[in-house]
Amino acid sequence: MFNQDTICALATAQGIGAIGVIRVSGPETFPIVNRIFKGKNLEKQLSHTIHFGTIRDNQTIIDEVLVSLFKAPSSYTREDTIEISCHGSDFIIQKILKLILREGARLANPGEFTQRAFLNGQLDLAQAEAVADLIASDSEASHQTAINQIRGGFSKQIAQLREALIHFASLIELELDFGEEDVEFADRDDLRQLIFKIQKVLIPLIDSFEMGNVIKNGVPTVIAGKPNAGKSTLLNRLLNEEKAIVSDIAGTTRDVIEDELFIEGIRFRLIDTAGLRKTTDTIEAIGVERTLQQMDKASLIVYLFDASEIQLTEIAQQITEFNAPYILVGNKVDKLSADKKSAFDTTYPDILWISASENKNIDTLKDTLVRKVKTREIKSGDTVVTNLRHYQHLLQTNGALENVLEGLAQSVTGDFLAQDIRFALHHLGEITGQITTDDLLANIFSKFCIGK
Ligand code: GDP
Repeated sequence: MFNQDTICALATAQGIGAIGVIRVSGPETFPIVNRIFKGKNLEKQLSHTIHFGTIRDNQTIIDEVLVSLFKAPSSYTREDTIEISCHGSDFIIQKILKLILREGARLANPGEFTQRAFLNGQLDLAQAEAVADLIASDSEASHQTAINQIRGGFSKQIAQLREALIHFASLIELELDFGEEDVEFADRDDLRQLIFKIQKVLIPLIDSFEMGNVIKNGVPTVIAGKPNAGKSTLLNRLLNEEKAIVSDIAGTTRDVIEDELFIEGIRFRLIDTAGLRKTTDTIEAIGVERTLQQMDKASLIVYLFDASEIQLTEIAQQITEFNAPYILVGNKVDKLSADKKSAFDTTYPDILWISASENKNIDTLKDTLVRKVKTREIKSGDTVVTNLRHYQHLLQTNGALENVLEGLAQSVTGDFLAQDIRFALHHLGEITGQITTDDLLANIFSKFCIGK
């Protein structure tokens, strides 16, 4: 055990709720809580049991509570832990926390429970970081990625890569011990094959980061097109609310409006924009400028045009300027004759024809949005890297492995190879926390909320 202090904090959200849970962890947990709890003698009860009683300040009853007991090492922190479920009044919670402090505990720092879980070997670092992601998860996809990481899916992959490399590192280090004698214990061909094998796992993980970011932060999606194409109407239709102002006067949507839409668990951050149009109106000019900025940041562009006045050369010119994948959408098909509509369908199979105001083909548009995200080579169920820190270490690992390959090609001596292999091992180890510094830990856990 690394920690001798006993710590406490409110684990549930601040503010009034039906119940509040106060968590106490550390070697003095049972004696401390026992001194303020009236009911059974908690020190004599079994782990993983729940008991009813009262919390008292001397003779004054503060609250009726339930206490859940977890004895080391069978707890989240692997220390003795008690969770007190009291009534969720700020006043009661503060009172109980003060009593616990008076009895010798101290307030926990942000993330300190999880930090202890890490230091005591309950979780590795990547799993501990996923706890914060899980708490912050707000969509099906972000939830799934965090759960997979907490369950150790990602950590296991990293550990396997590391183990394979460690074997080689030790063979090469052995050669170094023999110094002058020019022996080769580590077969260079095997090493090359091993690195290819590792890169087969490593590179998809690196590539998954873009998708990981999408899952964590949503897909910035711009709805672009000329004024009056129906962008605001479409946005309202997608969001089912009157958020953007719809009007007949070209250029009404002057500002950028952002909203969120969840489709199949993926979060689209929809950005409606001032229409793309050369303008002399200064306020509108700012809007157009912003549109262009937004489009630069977009991961996905929905380019909308009025199907009744289709101008293909203009569209063709616009799409060459897009940096992101796009969906071409012809709006207002309700204005077209049936003949014209079916002629369009056959002539332009890549264009999606909708009517925003008449709610035609909106579901197909939604499906297309999802497909655009999903076809970015990531199959669901694969491990997805969502954490920038992990991503950077994966990149560094791959860089070091590339150096090993280059070294092998140039038949460099074992000491150079060993250096790069050690470098790769170091970075893999930093992901799961086999190698850490106090600064790194402080940085990671300070971002957690108190009580976790
Ligand atoms: P924006 O400038 O691109 O945001 O366009 P708006 O959403 O403000 O729409 C401009 C005009 O087109 C409004 O009068 C809308 O009612 C109309 N409009 C939008 N979508 C459709 C549609 O699918 N069919 C028809 N007939 N009119 C539409």
